[in-house]
Amino acid sequence: MTIVPETSGILYIVATPIGNLDDISARAVKVLSEVDTVLCEDTRHSGRLLAALGIRSRTLSMHEHNEEARAGEVIDGLRAGRDYALISDAGTPLISDPGYRLVNSAAAAGLRVSPVPGACAAVAALSVSGLPTDRFCFLGFLPARKAARRKRLEDLTTETGTLVFYESGRRLESMLLDCAEVLGDSRSASVAREMTKVFETVYRDTLANLVSIIGDDPDATRGECVVIVEGNLGEVDSGPQVERALRVLLDELPASAAARTVARLYPVERRAAYAMALKLSRD
Ligand code: SAM
Repeated sequence: MTIVPETSGILYIVATPIGNLDDISARAVKVLSEVDTVLCEDTRHSGRLLAALGIRSRTLSMHEHNEEARAGEVIDGLRAGRDYALISDAGTPLISDPGYRLVNSAAAAGLRVSPVPGACAAVAALSVSGLPTDRFCFLGFLPARKAARRKRLEDLTTETGTLVFYESGRRLESMLLDCAEVLGDSRSASVAREMTKVFETVYRDTLANLVSIIGDDPDATRGECVVIVEGNLGEVDSGPQVERALRVLLDELPASAAARTVARLYPVERRAAYAMALKLSRD
């Protein structure tokens, strides 16, 4: 175990609002005012927040492109007794935001890293989704390219915890469509858009219905959103049901159509249903 001198500084990880400035905590304001340096993802963006809060601490940029180089400098400063606060453009740093390398290096050097908790879009969206929150899986942003996105979703088909994704409004409709096609369009889901801001909206429906609701609402694709999808609640005993449904459908339909129909009815991937349909047709 590394022995850290009492004189070392503290690295604070400070959450800032995700929209409404009043969501900053009193402790966050105190810490940001008292540290020697505030490390910002974007000094111009955070400069406006700090000015609005009357905070005049020195700022330094720390983003994904300079994090590694900056970490060495910050570690030296912490060892010399200086305190730092890391903030991101919005919400909790490190949650789909930079900071992991810095925290990892500071912790490995035995330096004190202390959280100042607050807003996080993922947790805020979960709290109003109406979906189970006892177990959830945070996935951040899915890949922008369709093929890679569908592959990632395919890997999630059997996940039983609630799924939490970040997404831009611009890609929301195509992302929901992929979720519906790969995870099953009857799954319950929620889209929390522009939370804590003027146009805050929370949609709750099945994935299939959300695709058409979002498609019909031009405002829905504006701004930032969090997509929450119910986990696979039926996987445990859907196997025999899928097989039974396929056997019935195969009397009437070719394997591909039977598999497509079953994948819409049960939490099973279309490819897996198709493989099973081919096997049953051969038997
Ligand atoms: N670190 C942040 C946090 O704690 O939530 C997240 C940063 S990530 C780069 C930005 C994404 O968070 C957005 O694209 C969106 O998916 C989500 N997000 C941030 N603010 C939001 C808000 N007010 N309403 C809905 N989603 C939001």
